[in-house]
Amino acid sequence: MKIAVIGTGYVGLVSGVCFSDFGHEVTCVDKDPAKIEMLEAGKVPIFEPGLDALLERNVEAGRLSFTGDLAKAIEGAEAIFIAVGTPTRRGDGHADLTYVMAAAEEIAKLARDYVVIVTKSTVPVGTNRQVEQVVRKANPDLDFDVASNPEFLREGAAIDDFMKPDRVVVGVQSDRAAEVMEEIYRPLYLRDFPIVTTDLESAEMIKYAANAFLATKITFINEIAKLCERTGADIKQVSKGMGLDGRIGNKFLHAGPGYGGSCFPKDTKALARMGQDAAVPMQITEAVISVNDGVKRRMIEKIEDLCDGVLAGKTIAVLGVTFKPNTDDMRDAPSLTIVPALIGAGAKVRVADPQGRHEGEALLPGVVWTEDAYDAAQNADLLVILTEWNEFRALDLKRLSGAMQTPHMADLRNIYSVEDAKQGGFTAYDSVGRRGWV
Ligand code: NAD
Repeated sequence: MKIAVIGTGYVGLVSGVCFSDFGHEVTCVDKDPAKIEMLEAGKVPIFEPGLDALLERNVEAGRLSFTGDLAKAIEGAEAIFIAVGTPTRRGDGHADLTYVMAAAEEIAKLARDYVVIVTKSTVPVGTNRQVEQVVRKANPDLDFDVASNPEFLREGAAIDDFMKPDRVVVGVQSDRAAEVMEEIYRPLYLRDFPIVTTDLESAEMIKYAANAFLATKITFINEIAKLCERTGADIKQVSKGMGLDGRIGNKFLHAGPGYGGSCFPKDTKALARMGQDAAVPMQITEAVISVNDGVKRRMIEKIEDLCDGVLAGKTIAVLGVTFKPNTDDMRDAPSLTIVPALIGAGAKVRVADPQGRHEGEALLPGVVWTEDAYDAAQNADLLVILTEWNEFRALDLKRLSGAMQTPHMADLRNIYSVEDAKQGGFTAYDSVGRRGWV
């Protein structure tokens, strides 16, 4: 089947590459000429493990191509996926649908034959019907269907998530569109991955409900972590004991510096906004948003405490600034709240991150970028672990503490323990939801 994908970001590019690997003929289009230039040269503009090899294989097989020309991309396509950004609209928390609607209008003006216009972007309930209206208005004669196909991949594990999904969700309103979607996902049907076929509204809601639930789970454990600190319980033991209950599950129960990233912050805000607009306040989600803001602020207090209450003039080594490991994505990362607060209070910040520098340089002005954890720690007064990249999981603590001015550690991902810190030559250690040693 011939497929076009609009947007070559984290979702569009992974979807396009994986669809071509399913055997479809895929053209990915982006309005950013720099991205298309890179992709045409066989380079991947984002860091996503395994994506470059899969892209190369499918380009070589002649099933995958890139263009900046939408007309060329959609020629003969039976399905066009919209995978553009839906960031938070400034001021009101609503998902900004400007890019989705612009793409829909562009498609309408260029499409000639029957096509299914599939929204892969995360969009509020009702958006697919709006897309339908926009297309119909711009091209009343076009024979088309809309479909909702929200994406659940995780950055850093995107290919596996796409190829072996927990489920695929498809919202349709005609059998014809359902058949096209079934054909697209046939390799997954054949391998018995669950495909939930439903109406447009339910498909749209599933995505927001799932993300808000996950954000709630993280925030819940972060709140319990705070109580653990006050009461002497150990959050790692608590998470383990809770997670072994099959009704709860052990995923998303790791206490840390608060959720961030390109999805949870904006999707929780958009759900809260949807609730307000429908006069059904999403009280739990609203609480989650506010508690999560508090979690990030609490991390700054921990850092301050480990600097003896004075940040001015201190040198702080920060390990990891991306919102999670195995991605270069910095959108809404906790580092974007924490690091500027430290710099604002007069600290000098030395950063090490395996992939964060490219995006991070513009977002974190004033930091010193270093080669690795040992370089970052030179003469530092505090080491802060903010993102649990693998290379930060087995650090030579003696070497680190030896390089520091004051060997203190804020382990905001609970990688090490007080014992590890003591043996590694540190003289103060704090983490999240466990007894500190300050
Ligand atoms: P992104 O910002 O990485 O990529 C969007 C791309 O779309 C950009 O390259 C941009 O240039 C391009 N674009 C915008 N308008 C265009 C147009 N009219 N024509 C051609 N190209 C256009 O975004 P993303 O992270 O891939 O997210 C896309 C959507 O998927 C969002 O709605 C997001 O919520 C959702 N989503 C993201 C993830 C994730 O992990 N990133 C996971 C699931 C769902």
